[in-house]
Amino acid sequence: MRNESARPYSSDRWDKAEGWSRDCLAAFQKAALGRQLGTVHAGSAYYRDRFAAAGFEPGDFRDLSDLSRLPLTTKQDYLAALEADPPWGTALACDPKAVRRVHFSSGTTSRPTPDAWTGPDLARWADLYARAAYSQGVREGDVFQCLFSYPWFVGGLGATAAFERIGCAVIPGGSGDTERQIETLFAYGTTAIMATPSFAAHLAEVAARMGRDLRQSAVRHIGVGGEPGAGVPATRARLEELWGARVFDCYGSLEFQPIAWDCAAQAGGHLMEDFAYAEVVDPETGAAVPDGTPGMLVLTHLDKQAFPLVRWATGDVVVRDSTPCACGRTHARLPGGVLGRADDMIVIRGVNLFPTAVEDVVRAMPGLADEYRIILDETVRDPATGFPTGIRLQVEATGDAPSDVGYRLADAIRTRLLVRAVVEVLPPMTLDRFTHKAKRLVRR
Ligand SMILES: [Zn+2]
Repeated sequence: MRNESARPYSSDRWDKAEGWSRDCLAAFQKAALGRQLGTVHAGSAYYRDRFAAAGFEPGDFRDLSDLSRLPLTTKQDYLAALEADPPWGTALACDPKAVRRVHFSSGTTSRPTPDAWTGPDLARWADLYARAAYSQGVREGDVFQCLFSYPWFVGGLGATAAFERIGCAVIPGGSGDTERQIETLFAYGTTAIMATPSFAAHLAEVAARMGRDLRQSAVRHIGVGGEPGAGVPATRARLEELWGARVFDCYGSLEFQPIAWDCAAQAGGHLMEDFAYAEVVDPETGAAVPDGTPGMLVLTHLDKQAFPLVRWATGDVVVRDSTPCACGRTHARLPGGVLGRADDMIVIRGVNLFPTAVEDVVRAMPGLADEYRIILDETVRDPATGFPTGIRLQVEATGDAPSDVGYRLADAIRTRLLVRAVVEVLPPMTLDRFTHKAKRLVRR
């Protein structure tokens, strides 16, 4: 991978599926879905009931468009299926004895929910992650330090299996011990890391305090996931500058590992279309939206055995692009990554806004640190005019910040996002740092 600068797009691929024509891919998806709906119906009491309520028999499936006859599966549906028959719930489609791994959600918005994998599910997962990392330029001989969390979370073990499969030396660092991580990556010549974007930014801050320059390290590849990051252009640029390395967006969820990862072209993550069938729908009406129009991503497993999901409502708003990628892969891409959560969309005085759009403006502004908070509060008023704004933005000035940085930021937010925000400029290192998943949106 250290030769990648001479050859920006790798023409060799991990899996021939990456180069299938769109027609070939659709034929594969149709056959796989036909098989999978039969498997799900036979194994999952939950889906047997859902199919029956929709008047749908697996044999009714003739074409990809037939899938839209089935209802969406939401997180609430999944929770209800768990409650119905704890601890596995009624959606598990395999014998519990066939389960080889269980991971759990963080439990920030509801109680922690499990997901499970059989042996073949785990092998498939590792292979798909390896495919994606390979497409980004990771090769045998790389030293990979995994800075994703290991307990409960899917990231740590998922990435470990994939990088081992490629032939890398894996250092399972986890998402704490910041100073030790930095010493280790210099000592062992780490060339590739994966982390949340927040932890990658935090490592750079701590390294600077330690008098170490990460740009002088051997790290050339950074995969970020767990929260929006590399899809936000200013965040990607900032991380690439801090580390002197290329940053790749790696989008996945507990339920779908992985969903879409950047290739070396960094032109929007490629959906794993031979693993999950993707629909993009209007979150209000459920109707399919065309490529280029923002909508909620809906995913259906094509071959998962434990906890297979049919028409899973991810809640993530994306834009799909099915045109060819510069890298030559045919699987559709999600330019800009996850634009936001359908239920995280902020409506400020009639203007729709995602927190990632605010992040893009903050991180492109010279004189500000990477950390910020968005506080939504109906009572916030512009101190100059007395008009309600409903949004307060807390940022930190760096040592060389111009004195009017707060004014400049408010102006940029108003010009680019069409909302007025009250900006509060705080001293450096005032706001808490995140080493795992960040929570920067506060509702009061
Ligand atoms: Zn590509």
